[in-house]
Amino acid sequence: MTKAQRAEIVAAELDKLYPTQEIPLKFRNPFTFLVAVVLSAQCKDSRVNEVSPALFDLADNPKAMSELPVEKIREIIKPCGLSKTKAANISKLSKTILEKFGGEVPKNMKDLESLAGVGHKTASVIMMQAFGVPTFPVDTHIHRLAKRWRLSDGSSVEKTERDLKKIFPKESWNKLHLQIIFYGREYCRAHTCKTPETMCPLCKLLAQIA
Ligand code: SF4
Repeated sequence: MTKAQRAEIVAAELDKLYPTQEIPLKFRNPFTFLVAVVLSAQCKDSRVNEVSPALFDLADNPKAMSELPVEKIREIIKPCGLSKTKAANISKLSKTILEKFGGEVPKNMKDLESLAGVGHKTASVIMMQAFGVPTFPVDTHIHRLAKRWRLSDGSSVEKTERDLKKIFPKESWNKLHLQIIFYGREYCRAHTCKTPETMCPLCKLLAQIA
């Protein structure tokens, strides 16, 4: 079976399993989405959603956020972990958006990646989910599953992103990003892949018709 055929099977199965894809993080505008994504580093989305409303009630825009003392931000976001770094980054990125980008979250990768605490993956997620621009952010689930489904060789996250973008049509990137994450969260337990009996449905299907 070719890579393209495997990709077709993956897309069809994921469509059956996850016909709709709700964005897991709660937000009010592109700025609050950016903050929520920063908070979600090494923290479950559900935890971020519990914590973020209290912060957004105080500050849902760069000006209000930059006026909040960093310690206050930290106190609110503590349950998300890494609070010292995250609070500092949220305060700093708010000031940068205000001073360099006229108070609007920039709508391009280069400027997004210049913000404190925003790397390539976060910038891609913002472009995709806040602005609807097709990107294919690769997290650990996507990286692992792309290798497992032999859609990429798994040599690096960058390579996985390039391979997935090549093999799937651009209009499906945003949907597939979420579907693969949902699948990974629901099924992927590294220790269960050992035998066909314990494999998850999609890995099993691909293994059977390989
Ligand atoms: S069989 Fe399950 S655990 Fe193994 S790669 Fe597939 S989804 Fe992940």
